Amino acid sequence: MNILFMGPPGAGKGTQAAAIVNEFGIPHISTGDAFRLAIKQETPIGVKAKGYMDQGLLVPDDVTIGIVGERLQQSDCEKGFLLDGFPRTLSQAEALEEILSRLNTQLDYVVNLKVDRDKLMARLTGRRICKECGSSYHVIFNPSKQEGVCDIDGGELYQRSDDNEESVGKRLDEYINKTAPLLDFYQEKGLLRQIDGEMEIDAVTTEIVSILRG
Ligand SMILES: [Zn+2]
Repeated sequence: MNILFMGPPGAGKGTQAAAIVNEFGIPHISTGDAFRLAIKQETPIGVKAKGYMDQGLLVPDDVTIGIVGERLQQSDCEKGFLLDGFPRTLSQAEALEEILSRLNTQLDYVVNLKVDRDKLMARLTGRRICKECGSSYHVIFNPSKQEGVCDIDGGELYQRSDDNEESVGKRLDEYINKTAPLLDFYQEKGLLRQIDGEMEIDAVTTEIVSILRG
């Protein structure tokens, strides 16, 4: 079972991916992990990637594609995989098609977690951090007992600057602009399955599992 997970920041992709790989016994392949592994194993493409990152440069598309391609060739992917965080653009999606066809396989499902922009905004701007101990809270999902005050040491809670509405809005818009064409791409291939990501976590998992079990 080869699955691709899509969804905006804050849609709960990580949580659902963890539940699904557990259910199906397949590896969870995120670009971040694939990069870390390639760099640790010092594969030729990993060394190349590290060169860019050490210089603080953006890793070019062909390197990212190479890293994901390398990861998908490893033996633990023979029974399938759950890919997360790649592709992000149409050209990466086309590259993925090529990689998989060379491996004589293809995607079975593209699961997209749908959550309204307002809800994402509330989820993503709700994080609060303690100034004293760094503990993390969320005004909706994990509130402190007293608003604005850390449960552990009474420290003041603050919002990180990249969690404010403007930064989060930029991230969401960037995701929508870049990734929306991908949804059309997979829709046309008949692979796309839309999931209501606003349901309870367990209900979302149950629905994904039932879709994947066909
Ligand atoms: Zn604290």
